Amino acid sequence: MTAAISNLAYLLAAVLFIFGLKRLSSPATARSGNMVASLGMLIAIVTTLLFEGILNWPMIIIGIVIGSTIGLTFAKTVTMTAMPQMVALLNGFGGGASAVVASAEYARYINAGGEIPLNFGIAIQLSIVIGWLTFSGSVIAFGKLQELVTGRAVTYPLQKTVNAVLLTGMLLLVVTLVAQPDNVPLFLALSAAALLLGILSVIPIGGADMPVVISLLNSYSGLAASMTGFVINNEGLIISGALVGASGLILTNIMCKAMNRSLANVLFGAFGSTVQEIGAGGDGGEKSYRSLSHEDAATMLAYAKQVVIAPGYGLAVSQAQHAVRELADLLQARGVIVKYAIHPVAGRMPGHMNVLLAEADVPYDQLYDMDQINPEMPRTDVSVTVGANDVVNPAARHDTTSPLYGMPILDVDKAHHAIVMKRSMRPGFAGVDNELFYLPNTSMLFGDAKDSFKKLIEAVKEV
Ligand code: NDP
Repeated sequence: MTAAISNLAYLLAAVLFIFGLKRLSSPATARSGNMVASLGMLIAIVTTLLFEGILNWPMIIIGIVIGSTIGLTFAKTVTMTAMPQMVALLNGFGGGASAVVASAEYARYINAGGEIPLNFGIAIQLSIVIGWLTFSGSVIAFGKLQELVTGRAVTYPLQKTVNAVLLTGMLLLVVTLVAQPDNVPLFLALSAAALLLGILSVIPIGGADMPVVISLLNSYSGLAASMTGFVINNEGLIISGALVGASGLILTNIMCKAMNRSLANVLFGAFGSTVQEIGAGGDGGEKSYRSLSHEDAATMLAYAKQVVIAPGYGLAVSQAQHAVRELADLLQARGVIVKYAIHPVAGRMPGHMNVLLAEADVPYDQLYDMDQINPEMPRTDVSVTVGANDVVNPAARHDTTSPLYGMPILDVDKAHHAIVMKRSMRPGFAGVDNELFYLPNTSMLFGDAKDSFKKLIEAVKEV
């Protein structure tokens, strides 16, 4: 009877998780989605506390108080730009927790001297492997993004061979342990090997590729939790782990597609380690570009019918989200239609631009996805590219030699006039020159984005 009630409660929690995830897919409903999913988690936790034969309440309460205090402090203090490393840490903790729970269950079986059933044996080994790998890989990802270790791709001879040998060794250990589960030294060796593989597989990946890796590690942490659910027979954990595993994988896939890279290229390609010489054409000749003053740009914007703003990583660097909103308000008050073009991988984490613009209370209905806004570009008077580079590089359409070739881009070059706001002619994340800067209808507006917006706002007021 109690099992039936707890299973029903876990089912209800799972339904709330799914509704929560669905609502998270739009900025307008994301907050309530978070609340719905949190309610599901609360139901799952209360159910576990009431029905799972808790042995030591004081320890659990101490754990809840410490964990909640740390979580609340992080949630209140971590800046938006530090979110990727925050998520990396959370994934790591999730993977580590799964591995610790599976280890504790293993120790319980060994101490009791009983036989470990085959299905539990397999679930325990997989929890250990995925959990520890996720833990150490996430800690390295955190260290790279927090600049505690080098953000560059660390490579050495025979790197892939070493990782392949380690992986094969681990698979052999898993098979051996399933046959002889009570071999504790082998169990410890498997745990150590998983920790090592996590480190070795993340160090060859460049810091800027970390968001994709983090999304993948997020998926792993879900898988580890799901496996641990099988170990401790907890349906709630099995379902929620599977949801995290699947959604992490879907997000990884979306990001890879939007970056036009295969997952293998992200994981093994050591991307972004070379930088192309800028300003020099393939034939070695110097290319010319036009720059304009803030006053001229302001006049162009003030007399436009439609302006499309395409933000990128530089918007986050200069924290120009409030300034861009102020300029948009000013233009809208003059009757100019202002729309924001959002590329799926603009910035350095999924939803980066949505989060920044939401912080400045830009109305959601002014945000347009790439597929919605591109058809409007040819009838747009002025496109304003703010600190975006790779996501607006026309070479992605036709230059088969470009690393960006095939990546869907924002067609800012198709507007009657394209203004590009950045500090210099330096390249973006992919390290390649941008054809957009040299087109006849493009003008460069040099300077830090926030400073430039402030000058534009003053100048528009004068027009
Ligand atoms: P890019 O990295 O291509 O370009 C950003 C540009 O911003 C730079 O060229 C830089 O030029 C400019 N910039 C930096 N600081 C400022 C500032 N203070 N004021 C004005 N401009 C500034 O960014 P995009 O958003 O166009 O593209 C994102 C790239 O990141 C893509 O290649 C994507 O694949 C990759 N990526 C995205 C992830 C995601 O989840 N969103 C995850 C991992 C990678 P300058 O120095 O001259 O100012």
